[in-house]
Amino acid sequence: MAARRPLIVGNWKMNGLTASLAEATALAGKVQAQAPQAELGLCPPATLVAAMAMTLKGSGIGVGGQDCHARAAGAHTGDIAAEMLKDAGAAYAIVGHSERRADHGESDEAVRAKAQAAHRAGLVAIVCLGETLAQRDAGETLKVVGSQLRGSLPDDANAANTVIAYEPVWAIGTGRTPTLEQVAEVHAAIRQDLKARFDDGAGFRILYGGSVKPDNAKQLMAVADVDGALVGGASLKANDFWPIVEAKGFK
Ligand code: PEP
Repeated sequence: MAARRPLIVGNWKMNGLTASLAEATALAGKVQAQAPQAELGLCPPATLVAAMAMTLKGSGIGVGGQDCHARAAGAHTGDIAAEMLKDAGAAYAIVGHSERRADHGESDEAVRAKAQAAHRAGLVAIVCLGETLAQRDAGETLKVVGSQLRGSLPDDANAANTVIAYEPVWAIGTGRTPTLEQVAEVHAAIRQDLKARFDDGAGFRILYGGSVKPDNAKQLMAVADVDGALVGGASLKANDFWPIVEAKGFK
């Protein structure tokens, strides 16, 4: 089996105006100068997807949406179809981010339908999983993450069209991270489940997300079965994002 190519994705969440595209341009400049082996992606708010795709054209950095609707079109005010993201130049769609699971009550079933929609549109689905602090404290992490994984992945998932992001809810935006042993334990369990369900389960990329910063990226990215990162706050500035790229992006 071919080695898994590292993937570092920035999630800008509800941040960024047109002027912020300068950060994407700065990132593209660093990529051009240093040519990392890792695949890179940026997921800006929906308002910037098309403009960022234009800005990054030819840079090798992909653009993604932060969510998509399960249907291709219809009466769903305010929603965005995976096909629309694709049309705007996106390559990825994040689905099942814990902020969407919490703020919009998205179930595993809804996330599975969104992942399927991403595949239908030709996007790579970045499927997010992760336990709350209460679940970790109750010793339920592997049970919760395993159940989310089973419920959120459609049967058509494969190593080319799907990426898993393990993001403990309590580590997102808090500056707290799990120990390296805790990260290794969850990633190993996800890998085992992927191998049991999919012929190419060994080839899926599993990203770690949750307070990845320039000063902890090297350690986190060195953990077994961590194939890259999903980065929130530290992806907003090219100068913060770049050390994270460096932590995984060069042999
Ligand atoms: C995220 O939202 O996916 C995330 C990991 O955020 P942060 O890096 O800010 O914790």
